[in-house]
Amino acid sequence: MSKTIGVLALQGDFEAHRKAIEDSGARAVEVRTAAEMHACDGLILPGGESTTMLKLLDMEQLTQPLRDFAATRAVFGTCAGAILLAHHVTHPAQTSLQLLDIDVERNGYGRQIDSRIANIDTAEGVVEAIFIRAPIIRRVGPEARVLATFGKDPVWVEQGRHMVTTFHPELSAGSIVHRRFLSRI
Ligand code: GLN
Repeated sequence: MSKTIGVLALQGDFEAHRKAIEDSGARAVEVRTAAEMHACDGLILPGGESTTMLKLLDMEQLTQPLRDFAATRAVFGTCAGAILLAHHVTHPAQTSLQLLDIDVERNGYGRQIDSRIANIDTAEGVVEAIFIRAPIIRRVGPEARVLATFGKDPVWVEQGRHMVTTFHPELSAGSIVHRRFLSRI
């Protein structure tokens, strides 16, 4: 039976993830309530604006359900979603779910070059990485594994069942990143 992946749809580019999941052969549903979340086999936190997403998670009383979900099922955060999953967040600082042992600096590439496209090498092939006001991962803990770097910066990291990218794989053709997420579910 095909897996059902939820895409948190409070804010941000959830529609592109929905399509990327479907292109990878799974079912995708938008998630706005705890009941919708718990019907899923895995969950994606999309890019967008992490401060706004944090507030909306609280307002919709989804923060604890998300923690409960992540205790047994896989979560994948892209860009703002990666910021939400980090252990420690700076520039500016804000709270986070601490599902991966990484520290991130928001908007780490600064204003001058706040968006760019790069081809990065991964074990599964070359991935087009689109960065949009991306965070930089400044520390990776011993339990986390770097799957790809851009220059010296880790940009794709996994830990246990969870995974983050600082770029937006949902905006590129090809589904190497989404398929890796699906393979663990
Ligand atoms: N700069 C945004 C933040 O700090 C993230 C940008 C993105 O998700 N593309 O939340």
